Amino acid sequence: MNTLVIATKNHGKFLEFKEMLGPASFSIVSLIDFHHIEIQETGSTFDENALIKATTVCRETGLPTLADDSGLEVHILNGEPGVLTARYAGEHATDEDNINKLLERLEGVPLDKRRAQFVCSLALVFPDGQAFFERGILEGLIALSPRGTEGFGYDPIFLLPEQNKTLAEISIGEKNRISHRARALEKIKKHLFRLI
Ligand code: IMP
Repeated sequence: MNTLVIATKNHGKFLEFKEMLGPASFSIVSLIDFHHIEIQETGSTFDENALIKATTVCRETGLPTLADDSGLEVHILNGEPGVLTARYAGEHATDEDNINKLLERLEGVPLDKRRAQFVCSLALVFPDGQAFFERGILEGLIALSPRGTEGFGYDPIFLLPEQNKTLAEISIGEKNRISHRARALEKIKKHLFRLI
């Protein structure tokens, strides 16, 4: 049976991908099984970082590899925090630090001008050198203050205007149906037949 590596050491993210891929005719493993592999995210775009992760892991394992890179872009801040999303308030910043920094940067900006999007870039790389990319986007607004307890990262301030709820106020199941990651993964599924 063929094996697909998901290039993450984050067990939660791995399970999320596994669930979204559904029953597969190939086995799926994460970087937890290859813990010696170190990856430097030195790219200046989400696509570059996803490709760096996927090519490094594919080369080291000799196995087809799927890697993601994701983050938040706020339009009025010219796309900030962008590739710095995870470390917006500093190298060891917590989710709360990052949220507070973003709310400060948007102080005085009315809700209708706080348009933002979560972006997920996926790269799928095969040992023969073939590479595929897909992107998923979730649009919303940055709320005036945090709400909700579900999810992670910037979820408490990412408002879905149609529902008037933040991503931290909806269930994980609901989020996994609409998220940037789910949308990118849905598109990349068509290339996975090469694994069979
Ligand atoms: P990475 O792609 O796992 O490195 O994610 C980069 C950063 O983007 C994370 O640390 C989170 O802060 C943020 N992020 C990515 N996806 C989400 C999401 O679905 N909700 C909230 N924050 C997210």
